[in-house]
Amino acid sequence: MNVFVTGAAGFLGSHLVDRLLADGDRVVGIDNYVTGSRANLAHIRGSQPFTFIQADVSQPWTWAASSENPDLIMHFASPASPVDYGREPLATLAVNALGIMHAVALADKTKARVLFASTSETYGDPLEHPQRESYWGNVNPVGVRACYDEAKRYGEAYLTSAVRKLGIDGRIVRIFNTYGPRMQPGDGRVIPNFCLSALQGRPLTVYGDGRQTRSFCYVDDLIDGIVRLARGPGLQGKLVNIGNPIEFTIEELARIVAEVADVPLHMVPHDLPPDDPTRRKPDITLARTLLGWEPNVGLREGLVSTLDYFRELTPVA
Ligand code: UDP
Repeated sequence: MNVFVTGAAGFLGSHLVDRLLADGDRVVGIDNYVTGSRANLAHIRGSQPFTFIQADVSQPWTWAASSENPDLIMHFASPASPVDYGREPLATLAVNALGIMHAVALADKTKARVLFASTSETYGDPLEHPQRESYWGNVNPVGVRACYDEAKRYGEAYLTSAVRKLGIDGRIVRIFNTYGPRMQPGDGRVIPNFCLSALQGRPLTVYGDGRQTRSFCYVDDLIDGIVRLARGPGLQGKLVNIGNPIEFTIEELARIVAEVADVPLHMVPHDLPPDDPTRRKPDITLARTLLGWEPNVGLREGLVSTLDYFRELTPVA
């Protein structure tokens, strides 16, 4: 298959590119480096059936004319951490809203399949727990996270409408918190922050009372679920949660990071950011039944390689 991956230089995009190339696909990766990094793709440049295009996918996709038509378009380009989309709210809205429109237009012309990377943020601060795909969510449409949450909700609505109106083979993955090598050290997310602080001997910044929960999926597990959704036959119009259903409080996470990093636990309280969801945990029944997928990597195991990555990135005393 010929696959277009937007956001190819990002944390998830670059792991996705690796997996597609390993599976024998030809890949065109597109990124404007707003949050991605050249280092994430350095290992594959020039050596495999991989082409990189530096472009902002919220702009018209003129570059597509000089590429072989895609069989599959995977739209992953977007700032994705609260700090990143808080810094680039308008670009976040644009890349999701306009990006999916360009992807659909190209798919309509070429008959490519489209997979849209959506998010558990579409559930907002959920009133149902765990979150099933049928839950409509509890999102503040004018809050500081709205630029991301509503952009992803628009992307879902646009692609779903294109499935109905144009017969596009569109599929949507709702991605829950994911971690692993190639996360950006400055993205402000809890796992990079805790890992870097632990390695540098600084206290771990626990926001609020630390009792809010998240469920953390290791990147290899997540990519496997996404690839199953992208490749599976007869999945047109499907929307599936992919994430690890084992839930931790943020304070528990701090203890585990310190334990795996083998450092004493020091925590420092910090204000809870506005609209920070209190609980989050995916119901993955649909992924299990539809895709035969479930995560295999436990948090402690995944943190070992994540800590190794941060150790190499920022050598510490
Ligand atoms: N958090 C924290 N300390 C940090 C960074 C984040 O306690 O240094 C908390 C944050 O308030 C949230 C959770 O960890 O409740 C996950 O935050 P993250 O930014 O990783 O992702 P989110 O799930 O909020 O998009």
